[in-house]
Amino acid sequence: MTAITAPSAPRVAIIGGGLAGLAAAAALVEAGWSVSIYEARRRVGGRAASFEDPVTGGLVDACQHVAMGCCTNFLDLCRQTGVADALRCDRTLFFIAPDGSRAACTPSRLLPAPLHLAPLLLRMKHFTLTERIRLGLGMLRLARYRVGATGGPGTAAAWLAAIGQPPRVIEYFWRPVLESALGESIDLVSVEAARKVAVDGFLAHPQAADVFVPLEPLGTLFGERIAGWLEQRGVAVHTGVIVTGLDRGTDGRGQAVRCGDVEHSFDAVIVAVPWRQAGRLVPDLVPTADESLTGSPITAVHLWFDRPVIDLPHAVFLGFTSQWVFRGDESQNADPGYCQVVISASRGLLDGDRQRLLETVVEEIRHTFPAARAARLTESRIVTDPTAVLSVRPGVDAVRPRATTAAGNIFLAGDWTATGWPSTMEGAVRSGRLAAEAVGTALGRPVTGMVADLPKGWIVKAIVGK
Ligand SMILES: Cc1cc2nc3c(=O)[nH]c(=O)nc-3n(C[C@H](O)[C@H](O)[C@H](O)COP(=O)(O)OP(=O)(O)OC[C@H]3O[C@@H](n4cnc5c(N)ncnc54)[C@H](O)[C@@H]3O)c2cc1C
Repeated sequence: MTAITAPSAPRVAIIGGGLAGLAAAAALVEAGWSVSIYEARRRVGGRAASFEDPVTGGLVDACQHVAMGCCTNFLDLCRQTGVADALRCDRTLFFIAPDGSRAACTPSRLLPAPLHLAPLLLRMKHFTLTERIRLGLGMLRLARYRVGATGGPGTAAAWLAAIGQPPRVIEYFWRPVLESALGESIDLVSVEAARKVAVDGFLAHPQAADVFVPLEPLGTLFGERIAGWLEQRGVAVHTGVIVTGLDRGTDGRGQAVRCGDVEHSFDAVIVAVPWRQAGRLVPDLVPTADESLTGSPITAVHLWFDRPVIDLPHAVFLGFTSQWVFRGDESQNADPGYCQVVISASRGLLDGDRQRLLETVVEEIRHTFPAARAARLTESRIVTDPTAVLSVRPGVDAVRPRATTAAGNIFLAGDWTATGWPSTMEGAVRSGRLAAEAVGTALGRPVTGMVADLPKGWIVKAIVGK
């Protein structure tokens, strides 16, 4: 594949090769722009990264990442860059109740939204019929929530309690589902963020809640395959290069990216790094965000047993310390005895006692999966990212900046910017595509990046509005 960039094409520098930077680069290079990515780490992919497996020597994801059917821009980026074959679509969510009983819940493909959720609710045998009806009504009420409807912003947990959701429904449905989707405790997230999950992730469309699981390590998928796709089209992907500053003119416009003593000039720059790093590079353009945004931690407990122990592809734990377990996928060349437990909003987890955390998680796996009882744990690793995602608390949307800035040719991207989405792969890809479109508008050469959301049927529109 040869470069499609015209010799006179405007030059765009992208600082940060996470999904936001990669999505921006893909949109711009396809529109014929000259694009350079500057990424501090050895591989692109950012937080969606892998490390070397101590058992097999292959790559293991630092933390399991999944997307949902509603993540239309992330899925479109995977199609655009030819890696969609490496995503498996699972329609069934497995819930494990505190007594170890299992519920396999699959939304209907045939019933129109939101009735497609009826089979899912019916299969939640760990709830009484009354609890299931109240859960369904609570979801509809959340979907109809309007900002200010309850007299001011509040947290999701407080709002759910205030509308009378039963404590068991809050603990065994809302908490695990919302915390996995938002990466933050329901005691802290806003009602708006919870509503986004309920509407876009469940109610809107029969495929909205599909779970897409990568079949290749993220380091291969993004760090090699998408990087390779971009390079084949002429994008200069510089890895292991830390951008130390931006040279600006007296009018504030960006002129060059500085990497130590080396400078690279550009016509436009997209700053696609997390908010703290953005605050250091362009402090005048993200002042409020830099001070007022907070991260939420996610912990992954990696376990290697001497034999296969998990008989489900993945499962959501209800009322355990563990929140979501994933079996190593054979197609990833994972060790057959490998599994990973993910715990969102893990600040202060078991008072930070890592040995206790390991023992607790292993005990829960043994309690739930009989094959694990006789298995020997041969290796383990606990990985916590303290600022894994932006904490989507009440009021956060007021300080998330848009892609365009006062500096004219400097643009912002990243899962923390104003996309209307929580801090996820979808949010990151949207931000990159929005930034690419903004660059195109500013320089008078339109770029198309964004694709549409899943269409809402008329019943959903009648419930939630357009
Ligand atoms: C543990 C964990 C679990 C997660 N689980 C999920 C999940 O299941 N589903 C989901 O959708 N999302 C998940 N996420 C969130 C998802 O990973 C992020 O939302 C997304 O990857 C963010 O992409 P980004 O491009 O905005 O930022 P980043 O991925 O942070 O990319 C920014 C890049 O900028 C680089 N950089 C920073 N400073 C400089 C500099 N000065 N010079 C050059 N380069 C620089 C960094 O090295 C990095 O590569 C998870 C995140 C974590 C950490």
